[in-house]
Amino acid sequence: MEETNERQLNFLEEIIEAGLADGTYQSILTRFPPEPNGYLHIGHAKSICLNFGLAKKYGGKTNLRFDDTNPVKEDTEYVDSIQNDIRWLGFQWASIHYASDYFDQLYEWACELIKKGLAYVDDQSLEEIRQNRGTVTVPGKDSPWRNRSVEENLDLFARMKAGEFEDGSRVLRAKIDMAHPNMQFRDPIMYRILHAHHHRTGDKWCIYPMYDYAHGQSDSLEHITHSICTLEFDIHRPLYDWFIAQLGIFPSHQYEFARLNIDYTVMSKRKLLQLVKEGYVNGWDDPRMPTICGFRRRGYTPESIRSFCDRIGVAKRDNIISYSLLEFSLREHLNKVAQRRMAVLDPIKVVIDNYPEGQTELLSAINNPENEADGTRQVPFSRELYIEREDFMENPPKKYFRLSPGTEVRLRYAYFVTCTGVEKDAEGNVTVVHCTYDSATRGGDAPDGRKVKGTIHWVSAQHAVDAEVRLFDRLFAAEAPDDVPEGKTFLDNLNPESLKVLKNCKLEPVVADDVKNPVEENGVAAPHRFQFERLGYFCTDPDSTAEHLVFNRSCTLKDSWAKMK
Ligand code: ATP
Ligand code: MG
Repeated sequence: MEETNERQLNFLEEIIEAGLADGTYQSILTRFPPEPNGYLHIGHAKSICLNFGLAKKYGGKTNLRFDDTNPVKEDTEYVDSIQNDIRWLGFQWASIHYASDYFDQLYEWACELIKKGLAYVDDQSLEEIRQNRGTVTVPGKDSPWRNRSVEENLDLFARMKAGEFEDGSRVLRAKIDMAHPNMQFRDPIMYRILHAHHHRTGDKWCIYPMYDYAHGQSDSLEHITHSICTLEFDIHRPLYDWFIAQLGIFPSHQYEFARLNIDYTVMSKRKLLQLVKEGYVNGWDDPRMPTICGFRRRGYTPESIRSFCDRIGVAKRDNIISYSLLEFSLREHLNKVAQRRMAVLDPIKVVIDNYPEGQTELLSAINNPENEADGTRQVPFSRELYIEREDFMENPPKKYFRLSPGTEVRLRYAYFVTCTGVEKDAEGNVTVVHCTYDSATRGGDAPDGRKVKGTIHWVSAQHAVDAEVRLFDRLFAAEAPDDVPEGKTFLDNLNPESLKVLKNCKLEPVVADDVKNPVEENGVAAPHRFQFERLGYFCTDPDSTAEHLVFNRSCTLKDSWAKMK
């Protein structure tokens, strides 16, 4: 909240403040209008944060409206997931609407436009209509059906509705100007015939309104003051205004902002659907997907996504945002709230030869250095431990400050240990590391003031909880996966190594208790999130069972990508 006060107003805030100041409106009403033809992605999150955020800031409200005018691709599964995702992000709509609720009203208004001589039934095929539309430099040709009488148009339109005609045989068009410099005005199609079952209206309709005819009128019916959409709709704005003006209805206004693009991913629902359908990912909520449910499963918090959207601001020109900025927002939030635990992902056994056999000690560990109120926990320590394989090297290079023969390191929260030797298998691989410990260093400090250069994490072998851990890399290897030479598709840019599964991970035992009870976030099931010390942020995956814990790595502790560039 401090941030919003400090930064400059964005262009939408300026418009809203001006309108409130001069009394154009007393309060604002925005809407988020998804088409229920897929799951929401991070681009939608930007639109959600903007629409709900502006309303919240100015004491207004936001409607959720399903833009369900295309029955072929839409489904209630999507309707449900969309509501879930908005709620999870922390927003609540004032009321929920469906463009399909307005089909009767839209039909009546279409008849009204016919009566005013502003709409006609065209018998040309879609192909003919396309050909006769002209180009930006060449005016279009009038349809031979353009001058039908009002009576004939009303009769034909009623019969279109009654189901007398085949799909594609006729359309209803606005009668504007086939030579208009804005192509949108060259008698745009208002209705098409589509004998398809609709997920809400069933078989009642076999004509469906086009986006341009439905959207503005839906906004107007709800008295939306600010209809915010992405830049590609700016050329549609005059038509949006035209329908509203001809019908003399509530003057909603459309404003455009630049859509969010992120590097190393694709964001069109059509392509995301293809990734799911063709099995390149494990569902819409695969943690590598840029969907909101994918980010949730990956361990992102609503706060991190909201702060990301706030941070990128509202642009008027298209740009590409770095994925690292999303990770930065996640790290920033999880650093404040995630409980620290110890986990070993790639274990190697350590035996502390001078530690009493059969003894277990409980050592105190800090849950979250960023929040004292989170307190401490007890971590069991014993003679046999696991450490990370990469934290031991038999023949280390210079400046390797972890464990190696003859060196002393600190075991976090525990003792100083010195490596005394190793055991190897027949191939010469180290299987066990032998150490001695200094009992005077309990808690991790030497009373004689002696220092060690390295501190490593560990888990007591006999107490450890087993887990599977999934590590993710970018889903696409190319910065702009959609930029492909001819003959290739975005699928050719998939990163074949985007998922790595580690089956033999060891966690400190308290984690088994931590994850016992399911958690909800804004009423939606959410994962348990942790920082595994020195490794990164991790969260439980829904594939987890009491017997088999599965964790996802949400992100590393540092930005490993930026470094690589
Ligand atoms: P897609 O092309 O991914 O299918 P869409 O624009 O067709 O997206 P809708 O369901 O129609 O998806 O979008 C709902 C709202 O979300 C619209 O107002 C749209 O402008 C906005 N939106 C969609 N994608 C983005 C994006 N990448 N950045 C910002 N807003 C977006
Ligand atoms: Mg769309």
